[in-house]
Amino acid sequence: MKKVNVGVLMLVGAMLSFLGCSSNQVSLKEVSVQENLSPNQILDILKSGNEHFVNHKNAFPHLDKARMLEEISGQHPIATIVSCSDSRVPVELVFDRGIGDLFVIRTAGNSLEDDMTMGSLEYAVDHLHTKLIVVVGHEKCGGITTAISNHAEEKKPKEISSLIETLRNGVEPFVGKTEKLDDAIHYNVIHQIQKILQNPELKELIEKGELKVVGGYYHLNDGKVDILN
Ligand SMILES: [Zn+2]
Repeated sequence: MKKVNVGVLMLVGAMLSFLGCSSNQVSLKEVSVQENLSPNQILDILKSGNEHFVNHKNAFPHLDKARMLEEISGQHPIATIVSCSDSRVPVELVFDRGIGDLFVIRTAGNSLEDDMTMGSLEYAVDHLHTKLIVVVGHEKCGGITTAISNHAEEKKPKEISSLIETLRNGVEPFVGKTEKLDDAIHYNVIHQIQKILQNPELKELIEKGELKVVGGYYHLNDGKVDILN
């Protein structure tokens, strides 16, 4: 795996050097970076970034003024991340990415159950041409904990009840089984991926190898994201 990561980084480095930029000051042609990377190479970049995060060695790329200015003309993110809104899962930091790198959809319980979230995902693929989607669940997810609790309906404002009801779609077999929280979190990630696969356009791109979808599980204690296949 290390060899692959090094290979990808060398490829990106070579491209950036061709473009006359340092790794922390990528100049605009990132559109060509996006076009030339395969879904698997993008996944390797995210895995490598997560290794930086786990080892407290983030490079914090793409955060300078030049990057801000070049992104004004348009974004070309390399991946779409569907993540929980939980403040303990800071997505760009977790993958050591910066401005314009990731299109992030965050909801309680990393859910794609409504038109707004699924529409955002379609936009990221159809219009921004992201080639990799990572659905990231996380340890001790409060949204999933509440959704599988038997007491979920008690004395909640209408909107939160509706949220819990929605989240339950992704963890149906685990309602009432709070001791199986971790299984429910994994199950929910797979459920969201299945929802993506139900979208004919996205499914076609996946079958053609132009789009890849993977699950992830984030550990709160060390920041590691396990990639679930
Ligand atoms: Zn959560």
